[in-house]
Amino acid sequence: MSQQRARLAPLPGPSPYGAFVAASLLVFLVAMAFAVALPRRAPPRLAPSLAAPDLIIPVDGVAADALVDTWGAARSEGRKHEGIDIMSRAGTPVRAAAAGRIAKLFHSKRGGTTIYQFDRAGHLIFYYAHLRAYAAGLQEGESVEQGQLIAYVGATGNATTPHLHFEIQRAGAKSQWWRGVAVNPYVALKTARLP
Ligand SMILES: [Zn+2]
Repeated sequence: MSQQRARLAPLPGPSPYGAFVAASLLVFLVAMAFAVALPRRAPPRLAPSLAAPDLIIPVDGVAADALVDTWGAARSEGRKHEGIDIMSRAGTPVRAAAAGRIAKLFHSKRGGTTIYQFDRAGHLIFYYAHLRAYAAGLQEGESVEQGQLIAYVGATGNATTPHLHFEIQRAGAKSQWWRGVAVNPYVALKTARLP
């Protein structure tokens, strides 16, 4: 009888409990490895810009393929074109290319009805010209979200056909809306990345 009992006793060796402890230790070590690695990653961008591109094409219904690089083209009085002309029908919504702040609502002989907008950091100026009209209630100093309706395509100023003249300028250290240095917006709009 005692011999039979000895045969039924569990054999020495790895027990299920030992395997559980080993698995738990492995999970703990992996978790620690992540915890150590995380602070070395780039800080995540804050929502809601997490999934948004830096720039959108600021005219409704215009795809990146339809953009034409007219940067540097000759203009009257020896001037060169410092923006991109986005052709569209009069009255088409113009939207903020990026989030930021309306710096100036300005009327000029060449640009017609225009908007100067800063990006959030105040490092860039977006210039929208030949507008038919501003969006209702738009004001200087107002914060705008990317894609927010700000105006409508027109042909004011020296434009001969309705289009949006769009410029991207680097602002100086003082973030003055009238003192930007233009960069080619074509590549920026194509890649949806700020210059
Ligand atoms: Zn133009």
